[in-house]
Amino acid sequence: MPDITKADVVIVGAGNAGLCAALAAAEGGASVVVLEKAPEHLRGGNTFFTGGLFRFAYNGWEEIQQLISLSQTERDGVDVGSYPAATYYDDIMRVTEGLADPELIDLVVHQSFPAMRWMRGQGVPWVLAYGRQAFKDNGKLRFWGGLIVEAVGGGKGLSDRLFELAARAGVTVRYQSKATDLLVGDDGAVHGVTYREPGGKRTIHCRAVVLACGGFEANPEMRARYLGPGWELAKVRGTRYNTGDGIRMALDAGAQPYGNWSGCHAVAWDLNAPPFGDRKIADLYQKHSYPFGLIVNIEGARFVDEGADFRNYTYAKYGREILKQPQRVAFQLFDQKTLHLLRDEYRIPQVSKVESPTIEGLAKGLGVDPQGLVRTVQGFNDAIQPGEFHPTVLDGKHTQGITPPKSNWALPLDTPPYVGFAVTCGITFTFGGLRVDAKAQVLDTEDTPLPGLYAAGELLGGLFYSNYPGGSGLMAGSVFGKIAGESAAAAAKTVAPAAGKNPR
Ligand SMILES: Cc1cc2nc3c(=O)[nH]c(=O)nc-3n(C[C@H](O)[C@H](O)[C@H](O)COP(=O)(O)OP(=O)(O)OC[C@H]3O[C@@H](n4cnc5c(N)ncnc54)[C@H](O)[C@@H]3O)c2cc1C
Repeated sequence: MPDITKADVVIVGAGNAGLCAALAAAEGGASVVVLEKAPEHLRGGNTFFTGGLFRFAYNGWEEIQQLISLSQTERDGVDVGSYPAATYYDDIMRVTEGLADPELIDLVVHQSFPAMRWMRGQGVPWVLAYGRQAFKDNGKLRFWGGLIVEAVGGGKGLSDRLFELAARAGVTVRYQSKATDLLVGDDGAVHGVTYREPGGKRTIHCRAVVLACGGFEANPEMRARYLGPGWELAKVRGTRYNTGDGIRMALDAGAQPYGNWSGCHAVAWDLNAPPFGDRKIADLYQKHSYPFGLIVNIEGARFVDEGADFRNYTYAKYGREILKQPQRVAFQLFDQKTLHLLRDEYRIPQVSKVESPTIEGLAKGLGVDPQGLVRTVQGFNDAIQPGEFHPTVLDGKHTQGITPPKSNWALPLDTPPYVGFAVTCGITFTFGGLRVDAKAQVLDTEDTPLPGLYAAGELLGGLFYSNYPGGSGLMAGSVFGKIAGESAAAAAKTVAPAAGKNPR
């Protein structure tokens, strides 16, 4: 590839946030170079591994139709409901215990639908998320948990499409190009990036930089340092390349650390999954149907309220609870009454699954203490209160007199054969990072914008604390990616041209 030493805008990281920034900057008239650490065949970052689900605010069919065209027959079979901006805002604030930055969340919420429409306009196709987020109810598919749309082809489809669109927009992507430092001039502004590629160390000069190179979830040293002891042992659900480089580079340049540095998104992940994401299996090692069963540790004891809320509002914090258990292992147990409700990820050939006609047999097969498990199941079954089980609503069918309780969907485990799945903690992404303003410009420790430096995606701090509503990561990445690209292109017009050779 010819040497490029100059561009208007340099973007670090080619995931959803970086490529949205690239498209927006190109649309703003800037020449754009994206530096990507991975080789081309492993490109796509965490975005590639996602289900491609986006959470956005919408008011019924009229808006959904601006994203997806459906025939009247298809529409008759589906109830999309609505997800007002106030509900989205409240959901984020509720799950983050009121800690999320109100200004940033306001932007995510109110720019979510415009960003979805903009992506559609760029050429990203959407589809209703029938597979995992909907249940048939009285002959109609109904969505629950505020999450109804995904990119065609999931994360892989989204990633491939964004790369195609970037190429069509004239964006240059340089693979195996690991950004290592920001070039900061005597004026305090960021004027370029130093990066390492197979040929050696290179420098690219520019008028604005957008950092979009992920959190530090794939860096065991940073995980142990910031998330706490034991986190170096978690499995990584996605890319191995998000090692906190962008956060470190920005902090070195005076950026402000912001948000929940000891917090992360982590889920129940198959015990035998590899240490990093597998591009063929992608997110199917996750095990997210626990609200319809029990979760126990190796001693046979329960340790979370499986039915505290819809899975979209609990799954991201339960990985941490699993990491705290002996040997970092847990087991999800189901019986024949709810097996048909399990998501497709429970049916992959690689699943760590045991089936038995008895609870003792299930315990032995899974390596759980049999006496402990029998005691737990008996106590659980006895604690269930009357009520009607309904999987699509918070049905209030709960237990009484046991700790932890099960607040919804509490059915006895009494219909063999019993089925158990072994899981551990899989980390998705980290919550601590950089502070940006409403233009996605990175702020220094005195809250002053760092000239020429913008950020988007996982490496933003202040959005999520302790927990997260499913589908908000891609959405926040698109909202801030678009803003960062627009802001960087606008800034590039006001800054003197960078020295060097331009990509076009
Ligand atoms: C299994 C799984 C399923 C998920 N499902 C969903 C979902 O359905 N919906 C949702 O909203 N979120 C989901 N998420 C979270 C989602 O992946 C992230 O929120 C989002 O993709 C992050 O986008 P990003 O662009 O910030 O980072 P990424 O997509 O990870 O992109 C960052 C890029 O930066 C590159 N990079 C890193 N360091 C450097 C460097 N020094 N120089 C150059 N490049 C560098 C990386 O190689 C990578 O390509 C899921 C995550 C995983 C792992």
